[in-house]
Amino acid sequence: MDLISKINHAVKESDLKPGDHIYCYRSKSYSSYAHHGVYIGDGKIIHFLDNSESATGDTEGLNSNFFGFSSSSGASSSSRCEECRANKSGGVQLTCLKCFLKGDTLRLFYYGVSKAELALNLRGGSSGLKAEEPEKVLHRAHYLLQTDGFGTYNLQTHNCEDFAIYCKTGMIDMKNGTSKQVELIRQVTKFGSAFSGKKKLDPLAVFQKLKTHLVDERWERDSHGVHVEVEELVNMYNKSLVRR
Ligand SMILES: [Zn+2]
Repeated sequence: MDLISKINHAVKESDLKPGDHIYCYRSKSYSSYAHHGVYIGDGKIIHFLDNSESATGDTEGLNSNFFGFSSSSGASSSSRCEECRANKSGGVQLTCLKCFLKGDTLRLFYYGVSKAELALNLRGGSSGLKAEEPEKVLHRAHYLLQTDGFGTYNLQTHNCEDFAIYCKTGMIDMKNGTSKQVELIRQVTKFGSAFSGKKKLDPLAVFQKLKTHLVDERWERDSHGVHVEVEELVNMYNKSLVRR
């Protein structure tokens, strides 16, 4: 793998293996966020989209005016290919790679990275958590698809990235969510406002400080999850033991 791919995580479809966690940045929408899913082979992805009452079909990611981001890409099921349109939209679902990517660049999510590697990709795309064997990953993804058992979507604590990370690792952070993308935006906003109004700032020093802070934060948060078997997890959501 060349250095550029190592940093931007871009990957070709032919390089994918069943059980890979893939993602893309929604470049065409006004907002900038990542959408995540689990590759199951044969050009198919299982991913988690908004299934809340306010959702209109398979909306994803940052809907509502969140930190100044505009509404989501408004992906209605009509924007899918004929085959994917036959599948249900909202919640845990199955689509082809083309409908998942919508023209954006395919990227591979890395697991078991060092803290230094985590710092290379601050926008997300890697985790210090250890990925489990593809068989386990695929079992979780298929089980959650069959049962639609991943509970109710919540942008901040229970989103597409949490779904993919859970399938890969069996780890879930019930309270805070396992993914980092929303937290990252929140931290940048907080950090930015703390510095605004101060004169004579050294931009490089500010950046270094912010970077160290964010990497520490993400590294630390990886340790908050617990390992839960998928059957148990679905049971918990079904019994509403975990309220969202
Ligand atoms: Zn499709």
